Amino acid sequence: MFFGDLKPRKGTVHIHNEWCKGCGFCVQFCPQNVLVLSHGFNAKGYHPPEVEVVDECRECRYCEIVCPEFAIYVTIDDDEGDEEQEKPIA
Ligand code: SF4
Ligand code: SF4
Repeated sequence: MFFGDLKPRKGTVHIHNEWCKGCGFCVQFCPQNVLVLSHGFNAKGYHPPEVEVVDECRECRYCEIVCPEFAIYVTIDDDEGDEEQEKPIA
C-alpha cells in the first residue's frame, strides 16, 4: 500500500438532543465545519446541533472533547472492511 491509496477516516456524528445546552462549542471547534446549530428546540428550549455537511466528518472527536454535556459522540464509518488490516505480515 502507498500513501496515495490511503483514504481519509470518516465518522458518523450522533447527538443526544435532550442533553444539549446549545452552547455551540461543537459547531465552533469542528475543523471540518460539519455542524450547525439547528433552528429547532429541545425540551429545555435549546438549539441542538445538526450535521450540515455529510461525509466531511474525519472522526477527530474535537466535538466530543469540547462538549460539556457529553451530548455528542462520533463513531467510525468502517465500510472499507478490515481485509487490508487483517492480512498477515509477510
Ligand atoms: S469528529 Fe471532528 S470532524 Fe467530525 S463532527 Fe466532530 S469535530 Fe467535526
Ligand atoms: S457542545 Fe454539546 S452542549 Fe454544546 S451545542 Fe454541542 S452538543 Fe450541545
